[in-house]
Amino acid sequence: MNMHVEVAATVPVAAPAEALDARGRRVAEAAARHADAVDREGRFPAEAVAALKAERLLGIQVPRSLGGEGASMSEIAEICAILGRACSAAAMVFAMHHIKLASLVTHGRDSAWHCTLMERIAAEQLLIASSTTEAGIGGDLRNSLCAVEAEGDAFRLTKEASVISYGAQADLILATARRHPEAATSDQVLVALLRDQITLARTGVWDTLGMRGTCSDGFLLKAEGVPLVQVLQKPFAEIAAQSMLAASHLLWGSVWYGIAAYAVDRARAFVQGEARKKPGQVPPGALRLAEAANELQAMKSTVVAGLARYEDAKGDPDALGAIGFSIMLNNVKTTVSGQAVDIVQRALGVVGIAGYKNGTPFSLGRQLRDVLSAPLMISNDRILSNTANLLLVQKGSGKLLSA
Ligand SMILES: Cc1cc2nc3c(=O)[nH]c(=O)nc-3n(C[C@H](O)[C@H](O)[C@H](O)COP(=O)(O)OP(=O)(O)OC[C@H]3O[C@@H](n4cnc5c(N)ncnc54)[C@H](O)[C@@H]3O)c2cc1C
Repeated sequence: MNMHVEVAATVPVAAPAEALDARGRRVAEAAARHADAVDREGRFPAEAVAALKAERLLGIQVPRSLGGEGASMSEIAEICAILGRACSAAAMVFAMHHIKLASLVTHGRDSAWHCTLMERIAAEQLLIASSTTEAGIGGDLRNSLCAVEAEGDAFRLTKEASVISYGAQADLILATARRHPEAATSDQVLVALLRDQITLARTGVWDTLGMRGTCSDGFLLKAEGVPLVQVLQKPFAEIAAQSMLAASHLLWGSVWYGIAAYAVDRARAFVQGEARKKPGQVPPGALRLAEAANELQAMKSTVVAGLARYEDAKGDPDALGAIGFSIMLNNVKTTVSGQAVDIVQRALGVVGIAGYKNGTPFSLGRQLRDVLSAPLMISNDRILSNTANLLLVQKGSGKLLSA
């Protein structure tokens, strides 16, 4: 049975006023306790997500007028980094939820249906998943094969969604599709599908090297009788350029920063322990630690500069859609995804066997496996070839302190 969102039924819940990162740290404690089991069993980080809901962190980006807390991208990025230190999968679930919510907040505010949905997200702490990847299209976000098939004021959709993280646990999926069955593959829209409006038949199991707890199984997604008002009016091309690209690269980058920062912490603790054992001698790993810390600082600067550029451009569609802005975001992604892998590997080199073994205070196996997903999560080569196309028409300013 289809569920329609009742405008009058939603009562915004007062959000706790406590600092967001303190709430994030409490979730991180819960996430860290279960992170090894989540990874080993390839299971959903249920405890961490329950803690996110208890701390009401799933609705923080929703505007205050709709019952949320109007949190900025930078505030959300900080929580991604805090969670990334504890459990990469829980951090990625939080990041992906807020990437989708960014599209609703940026592009859904002129639609009564989507405003009511945002009220529900804040009040009921609904979890949002993403379906862009499709069989036959792969990671090419800006093309779809499946199409919205309208009948009267409702539509149906069938999508071979080869990867949907926590698709089985989500309350809501935002999916890309062609605008209608005759539309070009690049003429896409973004549709909001509630859990009880869809069926998901599992077509692939997420048994991977890392990020195992994201449970990113493949599904045949089918929706019938969905009201057409659930289709976001803005073309997906604009949604991607003005909200999704920025949110994805900045929040993913923040999760990877958290993973890398944890690895450097472990390496630092290891080297400090060695130094205590042999007072007066600088342990040999200290030099490698200095290199890892150096690269971590460069990684942090890249993410922070990207966030600052985003906060400046926010609310200005021209600035958000500018070629230079897209190139900057692409560069943030390709740069920090590579740095994150490199930093964790360097930290492992410092720690040695104690890091390679599972179950020691310095184990880094899980972090290394998780962070290896970063360059693949929308392939860096695909992003670089997009940047290459943009560079053909960009005019550079050459200035240090401005775009
Ligand atoms: C942890 C994790 C969670 C994910 N969660 C989701 C999710 O919730 N929803 C979702 O929809 N997707 C999700 N994805 C999928 C993701 O968004 C990408 O679709 C996926 O990583 C791309 O997979 P692919 O390697 O098959 O890529 P493809 O992009 O199909 O690329 C395959 C290969 O071809 C190369 N290639 C392709 N095109 C080009 C080009 N133009 N130039 C140069 N090289 C090219 C690539 O380098 C790569 O080697 C997730 C992925 C990960 C790792």
